Amino acid sequence: METRNPHIVVLGAGFGGLTFCQTFNHRAARVTLLDRQNHHLFQPLLYQVAAAGLSAPEIAQPIRSIVSDHPNVTVLLDQVTGLDLAGKVVRLAGGTLTYDCLVLALGGCTSYFGPPEWEPFAPGLKSLDDALGIRRRILLAFEKAENASTAAP
Ligand SMILES: Cc1cc2nc3c(=O)[nH]c(=O)nc-3n(C[C@H](O)[C@H](O)[C@H](O)COP(=O)(O)OP(=O)(O)OC[C@H]3O[C@@H](n4cnc5c(N)ncnc54)[C@H](O)[C@@H]3O)c2cc1C
Repeated sequence: METRNPHIVVLGAGFGGLTFCQTFNHRAARVTLLDRQNHHLFQPLLYQVAAAGLSAPEIAQPIRSIVSDHPNVTVLLDQVTGLDLAGKVVRLAGGTLTYDCLVLALGGCTSYFGPPEWEPFAPGLKSLDDALGIRRRILLAFEKAENASTAAP
């Protein structure tokens, strides 16, 4: 009788998804690790990128290099758009992926606890784009101050 290796799909290559891939110890299983970025982002240092203390590549590491010593792990780049739990199918921007077991590790999003009008004044800090946007605003504010005709009070 033919036996099929179980297919484990891990959604998200943050701390959660990566820890699963690095510690899951089932030789016969095929693991697919999927993320919309091809790098793992070290979120605790995002503030350093926002404050121009570090450059973006210093806190982003290619996912494939992190799991390179786990030959049963395949890394895919795509955006999760939905789940069909009954059919065991992940819907992606670029197609679908079937699984036997699913690990959901897609992280969280910034909450404004109700008033969405706070967002322009308190931008989120969860991605490199967020950090680079804040850095641009800070540096441009300094440049504007440098050009100001009036002295600081
Ligand atoms: C600025 C900041 C500072 C922090 N400082 C600390 C700290 O000092 N100490 C501490 O313990 N914790 C800290 N944290 C919290 C910590 O970083 C998070 O708890 C941790 O990253 C959560 O890990 P995770 O794997 O659940 O999610 P994440 O690390 O957010 O990973 C989720 C992954 O899923 C991917 N993803 C999301 N949606 C999709 C989709 N639709 N399709 C495909 N891929 C998707 C993302 O690209 C990401 O790679 C900080 C967080 C931030 C934002």
